[in-house]
Amino acid sequence: MTFQTSIAGSLPKPSWLAEPEKLWAPWRLQGADLVAGQRDATLIWLKEQEDAGIDIVTDGEQSRIHFVHGFLEHIDGIDWGKKTRMGIRDNRYVVEVPTVTAAVKRKGPVHSNDMRFARAHTTRTLKIELPGPMEARELAALGVDVIQFDEPAFNVFMDDVREWGVAALEEAIKGLDCKTAVHICYGYGIKPNIEWKQTLGSEWRQYEEIFPAINSSRIGMVSLECAGSKVPMSLISLLSDKEIMIGAIDVATNRVETPEEVASVLKAATKYASPGRIYGCSNCGLAPLPRDVAVDKLRALVSGAALLRKETSGK
Ligand code: ZN
Repeated sequence: MTFQTSIAGSLPKPSWLAEPEKLWAPWRLQGADLVAGQRDATLIWLKEQEDAGIDIVTDGEQSRIHFVHGFLEHIDGIDWGKKTRMGIRDNRYVVEVPTVTAAVKRKGPVHSNDMRFARAHTTRTLKIELPGPMEARELAALGVDVIQFDEPAFNVFMDDVREWGVAALEEAIKGLDCKTAVHICYGYGIKPNIEWKQTLGSEWRQYEEIFPAINSSRIGMVSLECAGSKVPMSLISLLSDKEIMIGAIDVATNRVETPEEVASVLKAATKYASPGRIYGCSNCGLAPLPRDVAVDKLRALVSGAALLRKETSGK
């Protein structure tokens, strides 16, 4: 089927689990209650995605405060009581990060229980997002169908991507027998990112510098920001050997796209890539959005893909 749908990964936490509409929101539960709450929230989002008709579902990252922090919390050698302020994404904004104070070591599986649980509760294609290789092979062995590496900084450090970034990505996917993906966006819809985008001019051509290297790599799918962005769609012609997740849902606005708007973004992509390689997706994580807005955006995404499928099926 053409124009299958997925999301970049994260979804809002229910208000009983964490403060809504906030990145890095602290948990509202603790201990065993927290684990039970994360599982309940995962069930809710699997069901919401299935009901909306999303083809490749995720656990909505309900067990993680943030896609990076959620992993680091379970690693030895990192002191969470000692925070360091540092600029990230080439000093676009400052974040308080935990400090490495000893040898970094994985204590045990981190996301395995989450994925075991999600796998037991959905028969849809299941995807997980990781900030690095960490435990990718373990998760693939549990039946995860797509492992996606989130690389939002690939759009910022373009020389590094060419010099060693794509090589690191190749290393990350080594030995994986499932589908692999890389997500490269312009960031969550938060103020520093929105302000940064305003400095990028009338055409955003960052992808152009890294796509040839990515196309030469063994990565299977590439997830991009296209909705409401100034990325020229023609750049995806540089990804001639890849499946492409086209961001057709803007995460920087609470306004819900119409199916026609979603269809139009995906249709623009068909000028430069065959429909069989095009997936409908969100630009980035939906975590900071109000919960009802996120649900409506899932539905809009699926409706838009269906609309275009119908439009093109007769041709
Ligand atoms: Zn993103």
